[in-house]
Amino acid sequence: YLNCPFDREQYAIFYQALIEAQSVPLQRFEETRWFESCLPIEELARRGVDTMRYGPMKPVGLVDPRTGREPYAAVQLRQENLMADAYSLVGFQNHLRYGEQARVLRLIPGMENAEFLQFGQIHRNTYICSPRVLRPTMQMRERPDVFFAGQITGVEGYVESVAMGWLAGVNAARLATGQMLVEAPPRSATGALARYVANAETKNFQPVNITFALLHPLDEQDGRRFRRKRDRHQFQVDLALKEWNAWLQEAKHWVTALEATP
Ligand SMILES: Cc1cc2nc3c(=O)[nH]c(=O)nc-3n(C[C@H](O)[C@H](O)[C@H](O)COP(=O)(O)OP(=O)(O)OC[C@H]3O[C@@H](n4cnc5c(N)ncnc54)[C@H](O)[C@@H]3O)c2cc1C
Repeated sequence: YLNCPFDREQYAIFYQALIEAQSVPLQRFEETRWFESCLPIEELARRGVDTMRYGPMKPVGLVDPRTGREPYAAVQLRQENLMADAYSLVGFQNHLRYGEQARVLRLIPGMENAEFLQFGQIHRNTYICSPRVLRPTMQMRERPDVFFAGQITGVEGYVESVAMGWLAGVNAARLATGQMLVEAPPRSATGALARYVANAETKNFQPVNITFALLHPLDEQDGRRFRRKRDRHQFQVDLALKEWNAWLQEAKHWVTALEATP
């Protein structure tokens, strides 16, 4: 990563330019239901002057070697190719007009002369209403020989999509070979995601990332044992791993068979 540090004044100028910049108007058929974990940068800015500094422009841990201090805000650039001459801006999805993007993004310290290979565009996430149509095995309720895998089931993120894809793949293979289908253990993160997509409220169903809030809640006694959130979370992780490992152990014969498949 390359870090572009802002001082207070640079941040104020950038913020002002961002909230005044023109967005691409939405078409009538496009709904503005943003995914809260992946908001356009200008939408974050509209929510408050400091919102970006607590989101994608958070400077925590990014010490500027020139000053020895954390800057007021920072933008991170992620290397996109081996030549190290193309970078993307981390967390900077946006819906601004292209000309406006060039003008505003060149206000980022260090990017005054940046050349843009591709401008940002808002992406639409297509997903099915899984609680209505899917079982926690990732099969369709009405057509058990049809499976859905990945983000389309109503999860978001690399790991989440892989988890739902893995479960769908394992079960498709099991169905094809006449074995009983499996549900991921309820305390595990994979189990929590599968439970969510298969059982959430259908009316306002929205994709999710994995969070502690999605994991199986602790029972009252265990909940009271831990005052600090960090300890409670660690306990949840320990329980989840224990249950996951026991589950894999139980199903060793099919894990081994799958691993052995080239
Ligand atoms: C700009 C952007 C940044 C992101 N950043 C992050 C991040 O930093 N961290 C993170 O965890 N997640 C991030 N995500 C989300 C993450 O990329 C997705 O959740 C994840 O890649 C979904 O994986 P998937 O395999 O389910 O779906 P996809 O990766 O969408 O794969 C679906 C594939 O199916 C293909 N396809 C579609 N229709 C057909 C068809 N009819 N026939 C054949 N093939 C077809 C598509 O071409 C595509 O290759 C980001 C997403 C975007 C758009």
